[in-house]
Amino acid sequence: MIIVLRPEVEMQQAEIILKKIEDKGLKPLCMPGIERIVLGAIGDERILQSLNLEADPAVEELRPILSKYKLVSKEFHSHEKIVKIGSTKFGGGHLGIIAGPCGIETLVQALDSAEYINETGVTCFRAGIFKPRTSPYSFQGLGLEGLSILNEIKKQYNMSIVSEVIETKDIELIYEHVDAYQIGARNMQNYRLLEAMGKTNKPVVLKRGMSATVEEFLLAAEYIYNAGNDQIILCERGIRTFETTTRNTLDLNSVAYIKEKSQLPIIVDPSHGTGVRNLVNPLTKAAIAVGADGIIVETHPNPEVALSDGKQSLYPQQFKQLIREISQISTIFGKTL
Ligand code: PEP
Ligand code: MN
Repeated sequence: MIIVLRPEVEMQQAEIILKKIEDKGLKPLCMPGIERIVLGAIGDERILQSLNLEADPAVEELRPILSKYKLVSKEFHSHEKIVKIGSTKFGGGHLGIIAGPCGIETLVQALDSAEYINETGVTCFRAGIFKPRTSPYSFQGLGLEGLSILNEIKKQYNMSIVSEVIETKDIELIYEHVDAYQIGARNMQNYRLLEAMGKTNKPVVLKRGMSATVEEFLLAAEYIYNAGNDQIILCERGIRTFETTTRNTLDLNSVAYIKEKSQLPIIVDPSHGTGVRNLVNPLTKAAIAVGADGIIVETHPNPEVALSDGKQSLYPQQFKQLIREISQISTIFGKTL
């Protein structure tokens, strides 16, 4: 529920209402604005009704939040949130790019990738050290051995590091080595992991589950926000459909819809979204055209020998071309790179 206070109401009075909300076991929120203070109460609306706030002289209007997700909605915060990973901004008119190989394989592979990515001006480097693979026989990532390689990329190229965590204990283990965490599609509904993400102070790239509805996706983000971390970047990475020509079906509807309904930035992963490297460029442009706040893209110095996701990884030249084209079209869609 949104509680709009009258313009003349001061913080002292607002605090009394906040206390009443808290005493009922609901989550109180305070959003002081230039013209007036707006409060929020999250939780069981029936309990809230028992407070009879409409009779309070400080209250001008009560506005229920109709969507199931509350904190991440635009009903709650009408402005677009800007989330930063290092110096890269996502949302609010900023287009952010995260690029790198699917996984860290060797020091040479990682540094070679970082070198040509860095040359394009992209400063966010992605790479997994924990790879949640469909088959237990596939490359599972270097694990903690990969951390020294991530450190080396940061040291040599001063890039921001984004890496996936697959269980709660990973959060602490890689904390010092990353600038943002990634929650993968397979873990989008791992609610204990989402709550643990809420307790960190680093941004989170939350990928959409391959079988998750948009509402489930936004509710997953709500878990993180509700647990205390509002630095969330949503990521559309394609969903399972009857279509098997491509690895997934990149649902760009969700991007346009989420831009309308949520205050959070949303980026697109055209690599997992298609599974085909030659489709990454056109789908990136489509993503920007429908309003995406950025992309996360896989590229590898030598995709033929990549230990994971080689088929969807861009060759260095293709990657450079992609970045050139993004910078040409971004202003047309009102975005700054
Ligand atoms: C990845 O980014 O390499 C990855 C595993 O993605 P997803 O969770 O979207 O499958
Ligand atoms: Mn991958």
